[in-house]
Amino acid sequence: MKINLEVPEVAIREKRLGSITGFCGTAEGLVKTARCGKLKEENRSFSQWAGCSVGKALCQLSMIQDAVVIQHGPIGCSGEFSMFGFVNKVGQKQRNLTVKNINAVSSNLEEKDTIYGGGAKLRKTIKEVFQEFNPKAIFITTSCASGIIGDDVEAIADKAEKEIGIPIVYISCEGFKSRVWTTGFDAAFHGILRKIVKPPVEKKKNVINIISFWGSDEFSYLLRKIGLEPNYIAPFSTVEQLSKLSEAAATAQICSTLGTYLAAGLQQEYGIPEVKASQPYGITGTDAWFREIGKIIGKEQEVEELIKSEKERIAPKLEELRNRLKGKTGYVTAGAAYGHIISTLLNELNVKVIGACVYHHDPVYDNGDIDADTLNFVVENYGDIPNYDVSNKQSFEFVNAMNKIRPDICVTRHPGMAIWGIRLGIPTLLWANENLSFGYQGLINFGERVVDLLENDEFVKNIAEHSELPYTDWWMNQNPYSFLGTKGKKTEELQREKVAE
Ligand code: SF4
Repeated sequence: MKINLEVPEVAIREKRLGSITGFCGTAEGLVKTARCGKLKEENRSFSQWAGCSVGKALCQLSMIQDAVVIQHGPIGCSGEFSMFGFVNKVGQKQRNLTVKNINAVSSNLEEKDTIYGGGAKLRKTIKEVFQEFNPKAIFITTSCASGIIGDDVEAIADKAEKEIGIPIVYISCEGFKSRVWTTGFDAAFHGILRKIVKPPVEKKKNVINIISFWGSDEFSYLLRKIGLEPNYIAPFSTVEQLSKLSEAAATAQICSTLGTYLAAGLQQEYGIPEVKASQPYGITGTDAWFREIGKIIGKEQEVEELIKSEKERIAPKLEELRNRLKGKTGYVTAGAAYGHIISTLLNELNVKVIGACVYHHDPVYDNGDIDADTLNFVVENYGDIPNYDVSNKQSFEFVNAMNKIRPDICVTRHPGMAIWGIRLGIPTLLWANENLSFGYQGLINFGERVVDLLENDEFVKNIAEHSELPYTDWWMNQNPYSFLGTKGKKTEELQREKVAE
Protein backbone atom coordinates (compact mmCIF):
# COMPACT_ATOMS: atom_id res chain seq x y z
CA MET A 1 0.00 0.00 0.00
CA LYS A 2 1.43 3.40 -1.01
CA ILE A 3 2.15 5.77 1.86
CA ASN A 4 -0.51 8.46 1.73
CA LEU A 5 0.53 11.72 3.33
CA GLU A 6 -2.62 13.49 2.16
CA VAL A 7 -4.61 11.97 5.02
CA PRO A 8 -3.90 12.92 8.65
CA GLU A 9 -4.11 9.39 10.06
CA VAL A 10 -1.68 6.59 9.33
CA ALA A 11 -3.13 3.35 7.97
CA ILE A 12 -2.71 0.71 10.71
CA ARG A 13 -0.27 -2.17 10.19
CA GLU A 14 -2.98 -4.81 9.95
CA LYS A 15 -4.40 -3.02 6.90
CA ARG A 16 -1.17 -1.72 5.40
CA LEU A 17 1.08 -4.74 5.83
CA GLY A 18 -1.24 -7.58 6.89
CA SER A 19 0.53 -7.78 10.28
CA ILE A 20 -0.61 -10.28 12.92
CA THR A 21 -0.15 -10.90 16.65
CA GLY A 22 -1.24 -14.55 16.88
CA PHE A 23 0.56 -17.57 15.39
CA CYS A 24 2.22 -20.75 16.58
CA GLY A 25 4.33 -23.04 14.45
CA THR A 26 7.78 -22.73 12.91
CA ALA A 27 9.65 -19.77 11.48
CA GLU A 28 9.83 -21.41 8.07
CA GLY A 29 6.12 -22.21 8.21
CA LEU A 30 5.34 -18.59 9.02
CA VAL A 31 7.41 -17.33 6.08
CA LYS A 32 5.79 -19.81 3.70
CA THR A 33 2.26 -19.17 4.97
CA ALA A 34 2.78 -15.43 4.50
CA ARG A 35 4.32 -15.88 1.04
CA CYS A 36 1.34 -17.85 -0.26
CA GLY A 37 -1.04 -15.17 1.01
CA LYS A 38 -2.70 -17.43 3.60
CA LEU A 39 -1.53 -15.68 6.75
CA LYS A 40 -4.32 -14.55 9.01
CA GLU A 41 -4.66 -13.39 12.58
CA GLU A 42 -5.31 -16.11 15.15
CA ASN A 43 -7.48 -14.63 17.88
CA ARG A 44 -7.04 -15.52 21.54
CA SER A 45 -9.99 -16.44 23.74
CA PHE A 46 -7.96 -15.24 26.73
CA SER A 47 -5.56 -12.33 26.81
CA GLN A 48 -3.40 -11.32 29.74
CA TRP A 49 -2.79 -7.76 28.58
CA ALA A 50 -2.51 -5.54 25.51
CA GLY A 51 0.03 -2.92 24.48
CA CYS A 52 -0.82 0.52 23.16
CA SER A 53 0.40 2.58 20.19
CA VAL A 54 0.66 5.72 22.35
CA GLY A 55 3.82 4.43 24.05
CA LYS A 56 5.49 3.70 20.72
CA ALA A 57 4.67 7.17 19.37
CA LEU A 58 5.96 8.71 22.60
CA CYS A 59 9.23 6.81 22.52
CA GLN A 60 10.11 8.48 19.23
CA LEU A 61 8.60 11.94 19.80
CA SER A 62 9.22 12.68 23.48
CA MET A 63 13.03 12.65 23.11
CA ILE A 64 13.17 15.20 20.30
CA GLN A 65 15.29 17.86 22.00
CA ASP A 66 13.35 21.03 21.21
CA ALA A 67 9.78 19.77 20.72
CA VAL A 68 6.99 19.05 23.20
CA VAL A 69 4.47 16.21 23.18
CA ILE A 70 0.94 16.81 24.44
CA GLN A 71 -0.71 13.49 25.27
CA HIS A 72 -4.37 14.36 24.74
CA GLY A 73 -6.12 11.94 27.04
CA PRO A 74 -6.74 10.95 30.65
CA ILE A 75 -3.65 11.10 32.84
CA GLY A 76 -3.41 7.30 32.89
CA CYS A 77 -2.52 7.25 29.20
CA SER A 78 0.67 9.14 30.12
CA GLY A 79 1.89 6.34 32.36
CA GLU A 80 4.90 5.79 30.12
CA PHE A 81 6.20 9.34 30.61
CA SER A 82 8.21 8.11 33.59
CA MET A 83 9.76 5.22 31.66
CA PHE A 84 10.72 7.42 28.72
CA GLY A 85 11.97 10.04 31.17
CA PHE A 86 14.34 7.39 32.49
CA VAL A 87 15.53 5.97 29.15
CA ASN A 88 15.90 9.53 27.84
CA LYS A 89 18.39 10.28 30.61
CA VAL A 90 20.27 7.01 30.14
CA GLY A 91 20.43 7.61 26.38
CA GLN A 92 21.61 11.21 26.77
CA LYS A 93 24.40 10.00 29.05
CA GLN A 94 25.40 7.32 26.52
CA ARG A 95 25.53 9.89 23.72
CA ASN A 96 27.39 12.49 25.84
CA LEU A 97 24.48 14.93 25.67
CA THR A 98 23.26 17.29 28.38
CA VAL A 99 20.95 15.27 30.60
CA LYS A 100 17.49 16.82 30.88
CA ASN A 101 13.89 15.73 31.22
CA ILE A 102 11.61 14.81 28.35
CA ASN A 103 9.21 17.55 27.29
CA ALA A 104 5.84 15.85 27.58
CA VAL A 105 2.56 16.90 29.21
CA SER A 106 -0.93 15.48 29.47
CA SER A 107 -4.07 17.45 28.64
CA ASN A 108 -5.60 15.46 31.53
CA LEU A 109 -9.05 14.66 30.16
CA GLU A 110 -11.54 14.00 32.94
CA GLU A 111 -15.04 12.56 33.09
CA LYS A 112 -16.78 15.86 32.33
CA ASP A 113 -14.56 16.36 29.26
CA THR A 114 -15.79 13.07 27.85
CA ILE A 115 -19.30 14.59 27.96
CA TYR A 116 -18.62 18.19 26.88
CA GLY A 117 -15.59 17.47 24.67
CA GLY A 118 -11.87 17.93 25.28
CA GLY A 119 -11.24 20.62 22.64
CA ALA A 120 -11.15 23.58 25.04
CA LYS A 121 -8.69 21.79 27.31
CA LEU A 122 -6.45 20.92 24.38
CA ARG A 123 -6.43 24.52 23.09
CA LYS A 124 -5.53 25.76 26.59
CA THR A 125 -2.77 23.14 26.91
CA ILE A 126 -1.25 24.15 23.54
CA LYS A 127 -1.08 27.80 24.66
CA GLU A 128 0.45 26.92 28.03
CA VAL A 129 3.00 24.59 26.43
CA PHE A 130 4.07 27.28 23.96
CA GLN A 131 4.51 29.86 26.73
CA GLU A 132 6.27 27.49 29.12
CA PHE A 133 8.62 25.60 26.76
CA ASN A 134 8.93 27.83 23.67
CA PRO A 135 9.27 24.68 21.51
CA LYS A 136 10.13 24.47 17.83
CA ALA A 137 7.22 22.04 17.29
CA ILE A 138 4.37 20.49 19.26
CA PHE A 139 3.18 16.92 18.70
CA ILE A 140 -0.31 15.99 19.92
CA THR A 141 -0.73 12.27 20.52
CA THR A 142 -4.31 11.06 20.89
CA SER A 143 -5.89 8.45 23.17
CA CYS A 144 -8.87 6.13 23.21
CA ALA A 145 -10.86 8.76 25.13
CA SER A 146 -10.18 11.61 22.66
CA GLY A 147 -10.95 9.26 19.78
CA ILE A 148 -14.21 7.97 21.23
CA ILE A 149 -15.57 11.42 22.12
CA GLY A 150 -14.59 12.63 18.64
CA ASP A 151 -12.36 15.61 19.42
CA ASP A 152 -11.27 17.16 16.11
CA VAL A 153 -7.59 17.25 17.04
CA GLU A 154 -6.41 17.86 13.46
CA ALA A 155 -8.56 21.03 13.15
CA ILE A 156 -7.44 22.30 16.56
CA ALA A 157 -3.78 21.65 15.69
CA ASP A 158 -4.06 23.39 12.31
CA LYS A 159 -5.75 26.46 13.78
CA ALA A 160 -3.21 26.74 16.60
CA GLU A 161 -0.35 26.31 14.12
CA LYS A 162 -1.55 29.37 12.18
CA GLU A 163 -1.88 31.42 15.37
CA ILE A 164 1.41 30.40 16.97
CA GLY A 165 3.60 29.93 13.91
CA ILE A 166 5.31 26.59 14.70
CA PRO A 167 4.38 23.10 13.39
CA ILE A 168 1.65 21.57 15.54
CA VAL A 169 1.37 17.97 14.52
CA TYR A 170 -1.62 15.69 15.08
CA ILE A 171 -0.51 12.11 15.79
CA SER A 172 -3.39 9.66 15.62
CA CYS A 173 -2.39 6.73 17.85
CA GLU A 174 -5.52 5.78 19.81
CA GLY A 175 -4.83 2.46 21.54
CA PHE A 176 -8.01 0.79 20.32
CA LYS A 177 -7.18 1.33 16.66
CA SER A 178 -4.61 -1.40 16.22
CA ARG A 179 -3.63 -4.50 18.14
CA VAL A 180 -0.15 -4.14 16.62
CA TRP A 181 1.28 -1.51 18.94
CA THR A 182 4.15 -0.70 16.56
CA THR A 183 1.54 1.20 14.57
CA GLY A 184 2.49 3.95 17.06
CA PHE A 185 5.96 4.24 15.45
CA ASP A 186 4.26 4.68 12.07
CA ALA A 187 1.87 7.29 13.47
CA ALA A 188 4.80 9.34 14.81
CA PHE A 189 6.69 9.10 11.52
CA HIS A 190 3.54 9.87 9.51
CA GLY A 191 3.27 13.16 11.42
CA ILE A 192 6.99 13.92 10.94
CA LEU A 193 6.76 13.21 7.21
CA ARG A 194 3.63 15.33 6.78
CA LYS A 195 4.53 18.36 8.84
CA ILE A 196 8.24 18.47 9.70
CA VAL A 197 10.33 17.15 6.80
CA LYS A 198 10.97 19.79 4.13
CA PRO A 199 12.11 19.35 0.52
CA PRO A 200 15.92 19.25 0.26
CA VAL A 201 17.84 22.50 -0.09
CA GLU A 202 21.32 20.98 -0.24
CA LYS A 203 22.08 17.26 -0.69
CA LYS A 204 24.52 15.88 1.89
CA LYS A 205 26.45 12.98 0.36
CA ASN A 206 28.18 12.14 3.62
CA VAL A 207 25.06 11.83 5.81
CA ILE A 208 23.08 8.65 6.34
CA ASN A 209 19.82 8.70 8.30
CA ILE A 210 19.79 5.96 10.97
CA ILE A 211 16.31 5.35 12.38
CA SER A 212 16.96 4.13 15.90
CA PHE A 213 16.02 4.19 19.55
CA TRP A 214 18.12 5.82 22.29
CA GLY A 215 21.05 3.38 22.29
CA SER A 216 24.70 4.40 22.33
CA ASP A 217 26.47 5.72 19.23
CA GLU A 218 28.04 2.58 17.80
CA PHE A 219 27.55 3.42 14.11
CA SER A 220 29.98 6.34 13.77
CA TYR A 221 33.10 4.19 14.19
CA LEU A 222 32.49 2.09 11.06
CA LEU A 223 30.55 4.60 8.97
CA ARG A 224 33.35 7.17 9.28
CA LYS A 225 35.74 4.67 7.70
CA ILE A 226 33.78 5.09 4.46
CA GLY A 227 33.26 8.82 4.85
CA LEU A 228 29.72 8.77 6.30
CA GLU A 229 28.20 10.39 9.37
CA PRO A 230 25.10 8.89 11.05
CA ASN A 231 22.08 11.15 11.53
CA TYR A 232 20.18 9.40 14.32
CA ILE A 233 16.38 9.66 14.25
CA ALA A 234 14.27 10.48 16.19
CA PRO A 235 15.42 10.41 19.87
CA PHE A 236 17.84 13.28 20.61
CA SER A 237 17.39 14.91 17.20
CA THR A 238 16.18 18.49 16.81
CA VAL A 239 13.22 19.74 14.78
CA GLU A 240 15.64 21.36 12.32
CA GLN A 241 17.54 18.07 11.90
CA LEU A 242 14.27 16.29 11.18
CA SER A 243 13.27 18.94 8.65
CA LYS A 244 16.42 18.03 6.67
CA LEU A 245 15.95 14.26 6.53
CA SER A 246 15.34 14.67 2.81
CA GLU A 247 18.94 15.84 2.27
CA ALA A 248 20.69 12.59 3.32
CA ALA A 249 22.44 10.16 0.96
CA ALA A 250 20.46 7.17 2.26
CA THR A 251 18.23 5.95 5.09
CA ALA A 252 18.93 2.85 7.17
CA GLN A 253 17.22 1.50 10.25
CA ILE A 254 18.38 -0.44 13.26
CA CYS A 255 15.35 -2.67 12.81
CA SER A 256 12.56 -2.78 10.26
CA THR A 257 9.86 -2.97 12.92
CA LEU A 258 10.82 0.55 13.92
CA GLY A 259 11.80 2.18 10.66
CA THR A 260 9.73 0.57 7.91
CA TYR A 261 7.34 3.51 7.46
CA LEU A 262 9.76 6.44 7.64
CA ALA A 263 12.42 4.82 5.44
CA ALA A 264 9.87 3.97 2.74
CA GLY A 265 8.22 7.40 3.09
CA LEU A 266 11.53 9.25 2.58
CA GLN A 267 12.25 7.17 -0.51
CA GLN A 268 8.75 7.67 -1.90
CA GLU A 269 8.57 11.42 -1.26
CA TYR A 270 12.18 12.54 -1.74
CA GLY A 271 13.96 9.67 -3.51
CA ILE A 272 16.29 8.99 -0.54
CA PRO A 273 17.41 5.37 -1.10
CA GLU A 274 16.41 3.01 1.70
CA VAL A 275 19.02 0.41 2.66
CA LYS A 276 16.91 -2.71 2.21
CA ALA A 277 19.62 -5.30 2.81
CA SER A 278 19.26 -7.34 5.94
CA GLN A 279 19.95 -5.55 9.18
CA PRO A 280 23.57 -4.85 10.23
CA TYR A 281 23.98 -7.52 12.89
CA GLY A 282 26.12 -10.64 12.70
CA ILE A 283 28.69 -11.17 9.95
CA THR A 284 26.33 -12.07 7.08
CA GLY A 285 23.87 -9.25 7.75
CA THR A 286 26.58 -6.64 8.28
CA ASP A 287 28.39 -7.66 5.08
CA ALA A 288 25.17 -7.29 3.06
CA TRP A 289 24.27 -3.99 4.72
CA PHE A 290 27.63 -2.37 4.05
CA ARG A 291 27.73 -3.69 0.47
CA GLU A 292 24.37 -2.08 -0.28
CA ILE A 293 25.51 1.22 1.25
CA GLY A 294 28.71 0.96 -0.81
CA LYS A 295 26.62 0.66 -3.97
CA ILE A 296 24.37 3.59 -3.01
CA ILE A 297 27.25 5.98 -2.29
CA GLY A 298 29.60 4.59 -4.97
CA LYS A 299 32.25 3.30 -2.55
CA GLU A 300 32.19 -0.45 -3.17
CA GLN A 301 35.97 -0.81 -2.98
CA GLU A 302 36.25 1.03 0.34
CA VAL A 303 33.44 -1.12 1.73
CA GLU A 304 35.22 -4.34 0.71
CA GLU A 305 38.37 -3.15 2.48
CA LEU A 306 36.37 -2.29 5.59
CA ILE A 307 34.67 -5.70 5.62
CA LYS A 308 37.98 -7.53 5.19
CA SER A 309 39.84 -5.62 7.88
CA GLU A 310 37.00 -5.83 10.42
CA LYS A 311 36.53 -9.57 9.89
CA GLU A 312 40.26 -10.18 10.29
CA ARG A 313 40.31 -8.06 13.42
CA ILE A 314 37.55 -9.96 15.22
CA ALA A 315 38.34 -13.47 13.86
CA PRO A 316 40.40 -14.81 16.83
CA LYS A 317 37.90 -13.61 19.43
CA LEU A 318 34.95 -14.84 17.39
CA GLU A 319 36.53 -18.27 17.08
CA GLU A 320 37.05 -18.41 20.83
CA LEU A 321 33.43 -17.42 21.54
CA ARG A 322 32.09 -19.92 19.03
CA ASN A 323 34.09 -22.71 20.63
CA ARG A 324 32.86 -21.83 24.09
CA LEU A 325 29.23 -21.68 23.00
CA LYS A 326 29.17 -24.70 20.69
CA GLY A 327 26.22 -27.00 21.38
CA LYS A 328 24.22 -24.47 23.42
CA THR A 329 20.59 -23.72 22.68
CA GLY A 330 18.76 -20.41 22.85
CA TYR A 331 15.27 -18.89 23.06
CA VAL A 332 14.44 -15.36 21.93
CA THR A 333 11.70 -12.99 23.00
CA ALA A 334 11.57 -9.51 21.47
CA GLY A 335 9.80 -7.29 18.97
CA ALA A 336 9.53 -8.87 15.53
CA ALA A 337 12.56 -7.68 13.56
CA TYR A 338 14.73 -7.35 16.65
CA GLY A 339 13.82 -10.93 17.54
CA HIS A 340 15.15 -11.91 14.12
CA ILE A 341 18.33 -9.96 14.86
CA ILE A 342 18.90 -11.73 18.19
CA SER A 343 18.31 -15.08 16.45
CA THR A 344 20.96 -14.11 13.90
CA LEU A 345 23.47 -13.18 16.60
CA LEU A 346 22.92 -16.39 18.58
CA ASN A 347 23.14 -18.61 15.52
CA GLU A 348 26.36 -16.93 14.38
CA LEU A 349 27.84 -17.69 17.80
CA ASN A 350 27.00 -21.41 17.51
CA VAL A 351 23.96 -21.14 19.80
CA LYS A 352 21.12 -23.00 18.09
CA VAL A 353 17.87 -21.04 18.39
CA ILE A 354 15.18 -23.57 19.26
CA GLY A 355 12.31 -21.24 20.04
CA ALA A 356 11.10 -17.65 19.85
CA CYS A 357 8.22 -15.54 21.09
CA VAL A 358 8.02 -12.36 19.01
CA TYR A 359 5.42 -9.68 19.59
CA HIS A 360 3.94 -9.39 16.10
CA HIS A 361 4.76 -10.32 12.53
CA ASP A 362 4.93 -8.12 9.44
CA PRO A 363 4.70 -10.37 6.36
CA VAL A 364 6.08 -7.50 4.28
CA TYR A 365 7.50 -4.05 5.00
CA ASP A 366 6.46 -0.71 3.53
CA ASN A 367 9.11 -0.88 0.81
CA GLY A 368 7.22 -3.91 -0.59
CA ASP A 369 10.53 -5.69 -1.27
CA ILE A 370 10.21 -9.40 -0.55
CA ASP A 371 13.99 -9.68 -0.12
CA ALA A 372 13.77 -7.35 2.88
CA ASP A 373 11.95 -10.08 4.87
CA THR A 374 14.12 -10.38 7.99
CA LEU A 375 12.58 -13.65 9.20
CA ASN A 376 13.26 -15.25 5.84
CA PHE A 377 16.86 -14.05 6.17
CA VAL A 378 17.18 -16.03 9.41
CA VAL A 379 15.58 -19.17 7.96
CA GLU A 380 17.65 -19.07 4.76
CA ASN A 381 20.97 -18.43 6.48
CA TYR A 382 20.71 -20.36 9.74
CA GLY A 383 17.85 -22.84 9.29
CA ASP A 384 14.39 -23.10 10.78
CA ILE A 385 13.31 -22.10 14.31
CA PRO A 386 11.09 -25.00 15.40
CA ASN A 387 8.98 -23.35 18.12
CA TYR A 388 8.05 -19.97 16.69
CA ASP A 389 5.30 -18.10 18.50
CA VAL A 390 3.85 -14.73 17.53
CA SER A 391 2.34 -13.33 20.70
CA ASN A 392 1.81 -9.75 21.84
CA LYS A 393 3.66 -10.42 25.10
CA GLN A 394 1.14 -12.91 26.49
CA SER A 395 3.39 -14.06 29.33
CA PHE A 396 1.24 -17.08 30.15
CA GLU A 397 2.03 -18.58 26.71
CA PHE A 398 5.67 -17.60 26.84
CA VAL A 399 6.32 -19.04 30.32
CA ASN A 400 4.53 -22.29 29.50
CA ALA A 401 6.36 -22.71 26.17
CA MET A 402 9.80 -21.88 27.51
CA ASN A 403 9.32 -24.21 30.47
CA LYS A 404 8.68 -27.05 28.04
CA ILE A 405 11.51 -26.11 25.68
CA ARG A 406 14.11 -25.42 28.42
CA PRO A 407 16.85 -23.71 26.37
CA ASP A 408 20.32 -23.07 27.82
CA ILE A 409 19.78 -19.33 27.50
CA CYS A 410 16.96 -16.87 26.84
CA VAL A 411 17.62 -13.43 25.34
CA THR A 412 15.10 -10.61 25.51
CA ARG A 413 14.99 -6.93 24.69
CA HIS A 414 12.17 -6.07 27.08
CA PRO A 415 12.80 -5.89 30.84
CA GLY A 416 9.33 -7.17 31.76
CA MET A 417 10.01 -10.45 29.98
CA ALA A 418 13.46 -11.09 31.49
CA ILE A 419 12.13 -11.99 34.91
CA TRP A 420 10.20 -15.01 33.61
CA GLY A 421 13.26 -16.83 32.30
CA ILE A 422 15.11 -16.15 35.53
CA ARG A 423 12.23 -17.49 37.63
CA LEU A 424 12.33 -20.65 35.53
CA GLY A 425 16.04 -20.98 36.31
CA ILE A 426 17.03 -20.24 32.69
CA PRO A 427 19.91 -17.75 32.35
CA THR A 428 18.28 -14.75 30.70
CA LEU A 429 20.06 -11.88 29.03
CA LEU A 430 18.32 -8.51 28.87
CA TRP A 431 19.86 -6.93 25.76
CA ALA A 432 18.32 -3.47 25.87
CA ASN A 433 20.93 -1.35 24.05
CA GLU A 434 20.44 -2.80 20.57
CA ASN A 435 23.15 -0.56 19.08
CA LEU A 436 25.80 -2.45 21.09
CA SER A 437 25.35 -5.44 18.79
CA PHE A 438 25.80 -3.40 15.58
CA GLY A 439 28.42 -4.57 13.10
CA TYR A 440 31.38 -6.89 13.57
CA GLN A 441 32.39 -5.69 17.02
CA GLY A 442 28.72 -5.93 18.01
CA LEU A 443 28.78 -9.69 17.53
CA ILE A 444 31.74 -9.89 19.90
CA ASN A 445 30.06 -7.57 22.45
CA PHE A 446 26.96 -9.74 22.41
CA GLY A 447 28.90 -13.03 22.53
CA GLU A 448 30.93 -11.92 25.53
CA ARG A 449 27.75 -11.14 27.48
CA VAL A 450 26.24 -14.52 26.54
CA VAL A 451 29.36 -16.39 27.71
CA ASP A 452 29.49 -14.31 30.86
CA LEU A 453 25.89 -15.13 31.69
CA LEU A 454 26.19 -18.85 30.99
CA GLU A 455 29.34 -19.17 33.05
CA ASN A 456 27.88 -17.27 36.02
CA ASP A 457 24.46 -18.79 36.53
CA GLU A 458 24.40 -19.08 40.34
CA PHE A 459 22.26 -15.96 40.72
CA VAL A 460 19.62 -17.31 38.34
CA LYS A 461 19.60 -20.69 40.09
CA ASN A 462 19.14 -19.04 43.48
CA ILE A 463 16.27 -16.87 42.26
CA ALA A 464 14.54 -19.90 40.72
CA GLU A 465 14.95 -21.92 43.92
CA HIS A 466 13.32 -19.21 46.01
CA SER A 467 10.53 -18.05 43.75
CA GLU A 468 7.16 -19.46 42.87
CA LEU A 469 5.44 -18.96 39.53
CA PRO A 470 1.94 -17.46 39.56
CA TYR A 471 0.86 -20.15 37.08
CA THR A 472 -0.51 -23.41 38.46
CA ASP A 473 0.18 -26.95 37.20
CA TRP A 474 -3.28 -26.80 35.59
CA TRP A 475 -1.91 -24.28 33.14
CA MET A 476 1.72 -25.38 32.92
CA ASN A 477 0.70 -28.93 31.91
CA GLN A 478 -1.44 -27.71 29.00
CA ASN A 479 -0.45 -26.88 25.46
CA PRO A 480 0.91 -23.28 25.63
CA TYR A 481 -1.37 -22.24 22.77
CA SER A 482 -4.63 -23.63 24.17
CA PHE A 483 -6.21 -20.16 24.12
CA LEU A 484 -5.06 -19.32 20.61
CA GLY A 485 -7.64 -19.74 17.85
CA THR A 486 -5.80 -22.85 16.73
CA LYS A 487 -6.25 -24.41 20.22
CA GLY A 488 -2.65 -25.49 20.26
CA LYS A 489 -2.58 -26.88 16.76
CA LYS A 490 0.14 -25.18 14.76
CA THR A 491 -1.27 -22.33 12.71
CA GLU A 492 0.63 -23.36 9.62
CA GLU A 493 -0.78 -26.93 9.79
CA LEU A 494 -4.32 -25.60 9.87
CA GLN A 495 -3.62 -23.26 7.02
CA ARG A 496 -2.01 -26.06 4.99
CA GLU A 497 -5.17 -28.09 5.56
CA LYS A 498 -7.28 -25.19 4.33
CA VAL A 499 -5.12 -24.84 1.21
CA ALA A 500 -5.47 -28.60 0.56
CA GLU A 501 -9.25 -28.34 0.88
S1 SF4 B 1 -4.83 5.24 24.59
FE1 SF4 B 1 -6.29 3.64 25.14
S2 SF4 B 1 -5.09 1.73 25.18
FE2 SF4 B 1 -3.65 3.47 25.22
S3 SF4 B 1 -3.20 3.82 27.39
FE3 SF4 B 1 -4.92 5.19 26.83
S4 SF4 B 1 -6.78 4.02 27.31
FE4 SF4 B 1 -5.06 2.56 27.28
